[in-house]
Amino acid sequence: MDKIVIFETYYNPIEASIVKERLIDSGIQCFLSDENTITINPLYNQALGGVKLHLFERDVEAAKSILQDEDVQIHLKEVTDAEEEAPVDVQSTEICPNCGSAHVGYVQATKKRFGIFTMIISLLLMVYPFSAKKTHHCFNCEYEF
Ligand SMILES: [Zn+2]
Repeated sequence: MDKIVIFETYYNPIEASIVKERLIDSGIQCFLSDENTITINPLYNQALGGVKLHLFERDVEAAKSILQDEDVQIHLKEVTDAEEEAPVDVQSTEICPNCGSAHVGYVQATKKRFGIFTMIISLLLMVYPFSAKKTHHCFNCEYEF
């Protein structure tokens, strides 16, 4: 039997799902664990250590190269389509404008950070004002945009 390993741990269940779908699309079998608990209550996230993505050990290298290709595509998209980026795209994979990390999720806005600060930033960056309660959240530096 092939060994199943933990490929990656995600603190954002949305990101974990995107990666999982991406790998499955590419023919790599994988599954998530601890996903439901975290989606229901994000506060459990830390205690459980995040959403774990499992796959066969033999697929690890293939999975890495698929996700690297994806990173390249995201960067290219960022350059060419930046102005057409729809702010309501749940599947969005953005790059953090603050630190450049791709570890960004499209999540419920934290009440504390949503408001004047976000409005000023969107005016400064000349992007669409945020219409709803969702925002991009950088898990690297905690920046929201
Ligand atoms: Zn960041």
